[in-house]
Amino acid sequence: MSNGDLDKLSRWTRFKPSLCRGCWAGCCRLPVEASIDDLVRLGLVSPDEAVGSLKKVARQLIADGKVHQYRAVTGIFTLAQKPNGDCHFLGTDRLCTVYDQRPDVCRRFPTVGPRPGYCPARKQSPS
Ligand code: SF4
Repeated sequence: MSNGDLDKLSRWTRFKPSLCRGCWAGCCRLPVEASIDDLVRLGLVSPDEAVGSLKKVARQLIADGKVHQYRAVTGIFTLAQKPNGDCHFLGTDRLCTVYDQRPDVCRRFPTVGPRPGYCPARKQSPS
């Protein structure tokens, strides 16, 4: 499945937990929206920084390549992705390297996401 297929929501599969076994983690190629609380839990921002200027925090995280963008209106950060589209935190074994600290949106997927209740499940590696 290429990144283009991720956008074809009609090809997604109705989610059931057994799909996660051996999956290529296509959900970890979707843009990850994170709150400042998520960033603190991930260790990207200190609690002291979190109560200061979020624009300043965003500028630094974007410069460091950890965050792709920040929307001041919503206070939501979008995490950076690797050149191949994988989440910055996805390991080479296609497992999350920060599982216990992962953002809320990752915890709630696929209850939330582009097509709630469905996921881009696929066993083979992405092209
Ligand atoms: S933080 Fe972990 S679970 Fe969330 S998208 Fe990245 S690799 Fe996947």
